[in-house]
Amino acid sequence: MARRELVLYPDPRLRQPTEKVSVFDTSLHKLLDDMSQTMYASRGIGLAAPQIGEALRITVVDISEDKTERLELINPIITDSSGEISFEEGCLSIPEYRDTVVRKELITVTAQNRHGEPFQIEAEGLLAICLQHEIDHLEGILFIDRLSRIRRDMFKRWFKKRLKDEE
Ligand code: ZN
Repeated sequence: MARRELVLYPDPRLRQPTEKVSVFDTSLHKLLDDMSQTMYASRGIGLAAPQIGEALRITVVDISEDKTERLELINPIITDSSGEISFEEGCLSIPEYRDTVVRKELITVTAQNRHGEPFQIEAEGLLAICLQHEIDHLEGILFIDRLSRIRRDMFKRWFKKRLKDEE
């Protein structure tokens, strides 16, 4: 297992389309292990493959306090959703920025595990939020895209200032 370097906003790799996984071999398992290692080392609760530069439809999540409830989702699709919930989100690819996003409260996701076997999960609350955030990454969507125009402009100003401060 190896910790991989995080791809940070505004890197275009966060915006590129991802490919469906069709081969469930040891190199996929190694990638999944690297993703988990990177997520845990970065203290995140979820990580999508584009965040380590892999344009593949893969995400790992673990919202548990003791980091023992890792979920690996390959080719995930949201098949059902209901309700509304808002939560202050952050993203490992946009360090230090947080803002409130409105998402679905309950979702049903179908995906495949590391052996290619299909499974379905129903998620609510924080897990549902986290899964929607990560599945967005597979479409090149970031949480800042889901903010109102005013809040997104605030983000852009914050980001510009941060770039200036780094100069
Ligand atoms: Zn993210």
